[in-house]
This record gives sequence, C-alpha cells and structure tokens, in this order.
Amino acid sequence: MQFIDLAKQQSFIKDALDTRIQTVLSHGKYIMGPEVKEMEAQLAEYVGTKYCVSCSSGTDALLMPLMAWNVGPGDAVFTTPFTFIATAEVIQLLGATPVFVDIDPKTYNISPDLLDAAINTVINEGELNPKAIIPVDLFGLPADYSAIEVIAKKYDIKVLEDAAQGFGGQIDDRKAGSFGDAASTSFFPAKPLGCYGDGGAIFTDDDDLYEKMVSIRVHGKGGDKYDNIRIGLNGRMDTLQAAIVLEKFTLFPNEVKLRNEVAAKYNELLGDRVVIPEVAEGYTSVWAQYSILANDAVDRSNLQAKLKEAGIPSAVYYPKPLHQQTAFAHLELKDGDFPVSEEMSQRIFSLPMHPYLEVVDIEKICDVLKG
Ligand SMILES: *Cc1c(COP(=O)(O)O)cnc(C)c1O
Repeated sequence: MQFIDLAKQQSFIKDALDTRIQTVLSHGKYIMGPEVKEMEAQLAEYVGTKYCVSCSSGTDALLMPLMAWNVGPGDAVFTTPFTFIATAEVIQLLGATPVFVDIDPKTYNISPDLLDAAINTVINEGELNPKAIIPVDLFGLPADYSAIEVIAKKYDIKVLEDAAQGFGGQIDDRKAGSFGDAASTSFFPAKPLGCYGDGGAIFTDDDDLYEKMVSIRVHGKGGDKYDNIRIGLNGRMDTLQAAIVLEKFTLFPNEVKLRNEVAAKYNELLGDRVVIPEVAEGYTSVWAQYSILANDAVDRSNLQAKLKEAGIPSAVYYPKPLHQQTAFAHLELKDGDFPVSEEMSQRIFSLPMHPYLEVVDIEKICDVLKG
C-alpha cells in the first residue's frame, strides 16, 4: 500500500500528459513559456483572485510577498510552530523575527485568541514592529480566517495564507488561496495539486503586490531583466512543470471530492480508538493529510508498528514543533512555551491519503488500528 499513489493518478492522464510534454519540447520555450501563463490564468479563476504568480517552490511563494512588503530586521511575523519549517524559515531569511503562536487543539491551526494576545504583547514590549501573520492551512483545512482577518484589520498588519497544503479547501464558498492579502501554495509532488518537481504560486487581488512579485521573480527586473530595480530571485517555475500542473488540474476538482470520501470512510470506521479530525460547519478540507491522535507517544509508536507490520505506511507531521528546532535556538524559546503544539507532536500521526485509496484498503487500515 502507498502513502500517496501518484502512479495511479498518472494512469488516468498518461496520454494527455505525454502530449503536453511533447508540445513544450516542440516549442522549446522552457522558461516562462505559454503553459506558465495558461496555468496562472486557470488557477486564478479557480481560486477567485485577480492574479496568480507562479514561482519555483512553495517556499519562494512565501518569500516573495514578504520581500515585496519589505519585511526585514525589526519586524515581527506571527505564525504557528506546528508546521513545516519553510513557513518560519522565510521570516528568518529576511532577518525578521518569527513570533510563534500556539494552535487550536481541534484544528491544529493557529489560535486566533492567542494570536491577538501575542500581537498585543509585541506592541507592549515595543521592540519589534508587528508586520504580518502567516496562518497555515494545516493538513488541508483552512485556518480561521474570519477571526484572523478581523485581528489583522485591528492591528493593520498583513495576512499571508500558507495554502501549501490547503489548495482545494474552502470556507463556505471562498476557496483556500483567496484569504488574507496574499496566499502561497506549493506544487511539490506530494501536495494535493502537485507537479513532477518543484513549483509554487502566489494568489492576490493587489495590483501593487502583483507588480512587485513579477519583478522579484526575475531578479528584481524593471523594464527588462537587464534593468534591475530591486533585489530579487531566480524564482520562476519551469514551463514543463506548468504543463504537468495543467494536465493534473483537469482531475483536481473530482479529486477533492474523492479525498473527502476517503476521509469520511476513515471517520466512520475508526470509531473512538483514536481521535479523528474535526471539520467545522462551513469548512471543506482538501485532506493533504489524514491525521489522527493516539493517546500518547507510546500508544502512537505501538499503532505505527502494527501498521508497519501489516505493510501500511504512516508518517508523523510534525515530530518536533519549530520552537524546539536547533535552527530557531537563537529565539531562546523553552519547552512548555507552546503546550498544545508540543502535545500534538507527541500524539499525532497520518494515515495513507490520496484520491484513489480503495475502500478495502481503508477497511484494512482501520481493522489493524482497532485490532
Ligand atoms: C510543503 C510546504 C511548504 C513549502 O513548499 P515547497 O514547495 O516544498 O517549498 C510550505 N509550507 C507548508 C505548510 C508546506 O507543507
């Protein structure tokens, strides 16, 4: 059994993919070719934003809006410690200070109440300038944007949605990728909408931000790439990868439905042996991961061992919250500072999840866990 079955997905679009790839090989516009614009237009329409700017990875998709907003030394950027390193890494790369805020124990996403309190504390301390919030749509479930957008307005700071796992999710009829001032996603192969390499995109309605990011993407170009008006990146997405996303995107809306059917079956069959994920009224998850809670770390390693013995892969996202990572030791945060993230990192694990997971496999997984 596979944790994510990309080969199965490929079998549905093999011929169309080959044609797409051959088309790129024929026109030879490997960098910023027509497929890049075509993909950006389709994804912006799907998300419902004015712009989509493709780029080289989900990490650069987080970096580029922060660069455009001139985030740097002296700035505080608020985010969750229960995420992939990239979310906070980009803050540190620009010399700004990541300020971690603990998560809600039910959604694993940043807690709006604690966020408000953390911004207040930074303002009262008077050392850092609160500049932006990066909420993460962890495991495919959008963060609580109705509360976060109110807080952002109150303190007049930017919101950058990290939708690397969230693309395809929604709250009511608003799609992930449309929240905040800008949103970033990733096309890393294992993400809900992946390519066959690295890629990413930023979504926004903001004309000024769009102009700046298009410039940052190509070495801070002005009129052309040999007129450089700011420091930028080599941040482009390959034409070949855009062609692959375009073809995979034809399956995507149905895959979101299939992922939700897989999650519903898990929820039904797992009973109360483990804590199953909760999705609040109005929210749709894209189930980048199907994550459950064991009683404690010992229970988790027993359950994972039983799965492994039965040939079933499982994974832990994330075994160590970011405030406990060596890379952030300079922040001088302590064990116990973010108790919910710390507890979840001990208890959480993820089961195989992809649109084409068969019911018999789900039954087998749940039987092993309950056995
Ligand atoms: C995968 C991921 C990223 C980074 O995306 P890459 O394309 O691998 O650079 C950022 N944030 C989160 C939450 C992710 O899961």
